[in-house]
Amino acid sequence: MTAFKELGLEEALLQGIAALGFETPTPVQELVIPTALQTNEDLIALAQTGTGKTAAFGLPLLQRIDPAEKNVQALILCPTRELCVQVAKDLESYSQYAHHYKVVAVYGGASIETQVRKIKAGAQIIVATPGRLVDLLVRQVARLDKVSRIVLDEADEMLNMGFKDAVDMILEAVENRQSIWLFSATMPREVRAIASTYMRNPLELNVGQHNQINADIEHQYFVCHSADRYAALKRIVDATPGIYGLVFCRTRSDTKEIAEQMIRDGYNADALHGDLVQSDRDRVMQRFRERNLQLLIATDVAARGIDVSDISHVINYGLPDEIEVYTHRSGRTGRAGRKGISISIITPKFEEKIRQIERRTKSTFAKMTIPTGYEVCESQLFHIIQNIHDQEVQHAEIEPFLPRVYEALKDLSKEELIKRFASVEFNRFLSYYRNAPDINLRGSGKDRKNSRNDQAGSNGSMQRLFVNIGLMDGINKKDFLQLLIREFRVPKPAIGGIDIKKSYMHFDIEHTFSRDVRRGLEEFDINGRRVKVNEAKPMPEKFDKKAKDKKFGGKKAQGRKKAY
Ligand code: AMP
Repeated sequence: MTAFKELGLEEALLQGIAALGFETPTPVQELVIPTALQTNEDLIALAQTGTGKTAAFGLPLLQRIDPAEKNVQALILCPTRELCVQVAKDLESYSQYAHHYKVVAVYGGASIETQVRKIKAGAQIIVATPGRLVDLLVRQVARLDKVSRIVLDEADEMLNMGFKDAVDMILEAVENRQSIWLFSATMPREVRAIASTYMRNPLELNVGQHNQINADIEHQYFVCHSADRYAALKRIVDATPGIYGLVFCRTRSDTKEIAEQMIRDGYNADALHGDLVQSDRDRVMQRFRERNLQLLIATDVAARGIDVSDISHVINYGLPDEIEVYTHRSGRTGRAGRKGISISIITPKFEEKIRQIERRTKSTFAKMTIPTGYEVCESQLFHIIQNIHDQEVQHAEIEPFLPRVYEALKDLSKEELIKRFASVEFNRFLSYYRNAPDINLRGSGKDRKNSRNDQAGSNGSMQRLFVNIGLMDGINKKDFLQLLIREFRVPKPAIGGIDIKKSYMHFDIEHTFSRDVRRGLEEFDINGRRVKVNEAKPMPEKFDKKAKDKKFGGKKAQGRKKAY
């Protein structure tokens, strides 16, 4: 593996990235940095967001700035104000031990006068949204005759957002530039057109497969009736305790509505969309970044600049029209080497669209079953148990209270005590999901099954099984799939969704194979523990005592604060 220092970067920049914790270059950095440091040729790099592309262009760009020259030497165009701010901030971080380069971010929605003042104070790099930069060009604020490099960041997205004319104007206006570096996640016709009009024999740097498919992202989809989409969203969130997610909606009004509904239902959620004033957007983003907000409901446009590297789930509340937009959305998770899950909640007519995305992006989508009320309660219960197990004890602080605590609980046996502790949180979900019907759409999509028996998770000829091992036993989805295929000779199409949690898992398998697989698995010992497999159970009768075929969500959860 190549080290950063072999790429030709100067010492001060190496120190800057070391301080950020970057140890080894990502593939796009390895490919772009040495070339961009040397050549004056135009470059095209196919790179998705999350692959480290900002440093790929930012580091060589900084190294090629003349610190003594106080005019604008480089322009970086980004599709959104959030991305502008982020890129400018990143450049400042990379160069914290280098010369004090003057980097100014300019974007709409903020005072143009302040931005003009900053540029006039000797900006060397301008990071701009195309629209605002055109305003500045018209006002003849900045001298651009010393601009030698222009970076088009997320070029496909800039064109998607209608910035083609502005980009054209800027590229025409900057006459003396030496090179254009174009970064794009995809290469649609419009981006090719920009390249052929303004770039001279560009060098194409393609990180290839690695950048095309982000192997760290797992794609899943859930099918339900349109009317059940919100209920499905809640179940998925409830069955994923600890989720830190971004939910994409198609329109501002959907975004507002879903966020309001989620807040009303007790979730730690908020909305990010274009109707918010900048200060509100900043506030929401800060809460999300600091993890004080667990779910951010956003439109595509508003979410463009979000650079949070540990988002666990992206949820598509409906699929976007453009496949590229799906790629951008899912690229918000699985960043910087972490694993992420991209979930789509769709109605049956969009299953074909899933196939299209699979073909175009060369990735596989797993069809999942929307968790039943029973499964939600089970996930939550084991999450609580795990939390109790891992709970750090503040011995000194709790010690003085313990005699009274022991006294108050002395009439309870260990088993009783465990039951009650576990019930504290469990009861909230239990009361909410007691009457929840199955909202999965099976088969053709017409044969919706709501009967209690279907809650077992049996999916047509599929059967859902529960296994008492999970991630903490060192098993992951890929290994488990291989085990089923290699060890038990189960053909891949007979295996449905595999959902591995920390201490247990569920998976769907065709009935024909389930008996042999169960028997086989139960012969395994993991860490001295015997593997146990059970049929995922329907709601127990008691659980279902008052079931009156009530529609999910009809009954408002009582005392339900945060649903995670
Ligand atoms: P980007 O694609 O530029 O938005 O970067 C995605 C994330 O990866 C950001 O949070 C960066 O800080 C981080 N990152 C970029 N390059 C590296 C690297 N070489 N090592 C570790 N993290 C990185």
